[in-house]
Amino acid sequence: MFFKSGVGTSNGLESGGFLKTRPELEMPDIQIHFVAAMMRDHARQKSDRHGFTVHVCQLRPESKGFVGLKSTDATEHALIQPNYLASEYDRKVMRDGVRLVRNIVAQKALDPYRGPEVWPGEEKQSDEAIDAWVRECAETIYHPVGTAKMGYDDMAVVDTRCRVRGVEGLRVVDASVMPTLVGGNTNAPTIMIAEKISDDILGKAPLPAEDVRIAEDSAASAA
Ligand SMILES: Cc1cc2nc3c(=O)[nH]c(=O)nc-3n(C[C@H](O)[C@H](O)[C@H](O)COP(=O)(O)OP(=O)(O)OC[C@H]3O[C@@H](n4cnc5c(N)ncnc54)[C@H](O)[C@@H]3O)c2cc1C
Repeated sequence: MFFKSGVGTSNGLESGGFLKTRPELEMPDIQIHFVAAMMRDHARQKSDRHGFTVHVCQLRPESKGFVGLKSTDATEHALIQPNYLASEYDRKVMRDGVRLVRNIVAQKALDPYRGPEVWPGEEKQSDEAIDAWVRECAETIYHPVGTAKMGYDDMAVVDTRCRVRGVEGLRVVDASVMPTLVGGNTNAPTIMIAEKISDDILGKAPLPAEDVRIAEDSAASAA
């Protein structure tokens, strides 16, 4: 950090990748982050050892949470229940992701760097053992979306111009309008949504009134 050389010049998170846990998948379903340090609980737990960490992140979870009210007291914080790992599908993707990372780390190229596996630990091989470890240690990487999703079904809050359905002159323009996770980090897509809708509000590049519905209707009539 002082001399602009050596390990101090790295942010510690130098590489990553998007992978499919099953080859037949159309798109990657996990993202991995390679951290050049022993990292657990977002580095809140200090480690006295050298090592590296590979994080597995599920990109398209099936489990859905909710935001609700805790009480009638308007000053109380909202109840946020993300429901992580509620679905067996999500637990399987995480399990497969752990096994995939073990396979990558076992490759010859990493021979000079690899020591014994610390987390989850080589003894944890069964589905049950990996699931229990994921439940104990999994964290969020802060990409919640979808509480005011865009669309036309009964659960949709905003239309394709981010206008709140049924309310005049009100828009929601943030990550909450994404109907599902985007399959990657959410910051850039949120900025993209904001740029598009601010252009629409300013009349610079107005969006068609019902673009998605038109697309859905033409797809239906083609079928
Ligand atoms: C620790 C952390 C790390 C992250 N890392 C990454 C990353 O590396 N890459 C990536 O792509 N994404 C990352 N994300 C996710 C990304 O930051 C979010 O997806 C994105 O910021 C969502 O934008 P938003 O506009 O929906 O909400 P926010 O950015 O949360 O904006 C909401 C704004 O509303 C304001 N606000 C709240 N209540 C009120 C109120 N009552 N009145 C007025 N203003 C109010 C808040 O102060 C805030 O400025 C990270 C998130 C966190 C928390």
